[in-house]
Amino acid sequence: MKIIVVGAGIVGASTAYHLAREGVEVVVVDQQHEGQATAAGAGIICPWISSGEEEHPDWYALAKAGACYYPSLISMLEQDGETNVSYRLVGAMAVNSDEEELDAIEQKVRERQSETPEVGEIRRLSADEAQALFPPLKSGLGAVYVSGSARVDGKLLRDAMKRGAERHGVLYKAGEAGLEVKDGKVAGVRVNDQLISADAVVVTAGAWISKLLEPLGIDLSVEPQRGQIIHLEVPGQDTSDWPVILPQNDHYLVSFDDSRVVVGATRETGSGFDYRLTAAGVKEVLDEALSVAPGLSNSTLKEVRIGFRPFAKDLLPLIGCVPSIEGLVIANGLGASGLTMGPYVGSAAANLVLGKELDMDLTPFDPLRKATV
Ligand code: FAD
Repeated sequence: MKIIVVGAGIVGASTAYHLAREGVEVVVVDQQHEGQATAAGAGIICPWISSGEEEHPDWYALAKAGACYYPSLISMLEQDGETNVSYRLVGAMAVNSDEEELDAIEQKVRERQSETPEVGEIRRLSADEAQALFPPLKSGLGAVYVSGSARVDGKLLRDAMKRGAERHGVLYKAGEAGLEVKDGKVAGVRVNDQLISADAVVVTAGAWISKLLEPLGIDLSVEPQRGQIIHLEVPGQDTSDWPVILPQNDHYLVSFDDSRVVVGATRETGSGFDYRLTAAGVKEVLDEALSVAPGLSNSTLKEVRIGFRPFAKDLLPLIGCVPSIEGLVIANGLGASGLTMGPYVGSAAANLVLGKELDMDLTPFDPLRKATV
């Protein structure tokens, strides 16, 4: 069996890696668009403290499965010699000056912990204790600390899965793929005027999926949502164990090994594929970060990234087969939580295309649930 994966963000990289480990012949085609979400993502893996669309039970079930899947993936990658993935359980702190808000967060996290031990230890911290764990934090913010929260650098993880997949024989091809369908069945993809035939195609094309499916008359209404995100360097500080900071809005701070604190991000619905930094976007991100962590005021502004999150209209992911086109599988729409869900969703997409049993009911994520076909 030969399978093509279109897109090599976290979902495509994971799909190809899992297929390759099953010994399947795989070709990955990736256009490397500017604004790949995986390359810009902050890397917070913490579905336990959530809000907004994340309160939807189907969303939470998938995000939980994603967070719980990470240790298995990391150990698979280790077996394949890939250890530079930056995944680490650093814990997260929901911070707030309002003790009642923290009470509500703590109660919800404790409920989740009762059914999911991976949530880890939960501790209520005083403002001084919170600042001891994250020194740049503003004074007077108490916290709910949750130990089972992690961070990962999406680029490093994507590349580790890519190398792992290549070691199992996967071929990578740069270029924009167009789908080829014949007699109601996927025939392969066309890249740079060359037809690559296959028995099945898994489409993991992120925010760009609509362009790929429109010629087949399928409108999934996936939209790009721009995120601008800033990397700060805190010279001389060992930031490697600093917990993720979650101030209960769309903004956050997440630290990595090399004195780096990533702060973000804008959520610009309706942005289209406008790959630009904007004055208002950068201001918003810095204002929000420094209001929570004024101790970062003198950090070095190293880099600003832009990514397009793939969002479905109802904010739920899109994962499944297209019944009218044999051999076509879609894994998309992971929105603001694709680094959490992506590795698990990739493994599910691999199982789907191979016709294997799934360990989760994906019916709520039927990609055609509201599509025009
Ligand atoms: P992408 O990573 O965008 O990859 C899609 C790939 O498909 C691209 O490489 C593109 O070039 C390719 N492609 C598209 N069309 C074609 C074609 N026709 N032919 C060939 N190739 C094609 N998630 C979390 O869990 N935690 C976070 O903290 C977090 N923070 C984020 C912060 C920001 C600023 C952003 C932007 C996102 C964040 N996310 C986070 C979300 C996460 O990054 C995304 O949901 C996830 O990366 C989407 O992965 P993907 O593989 O679906 O798409």
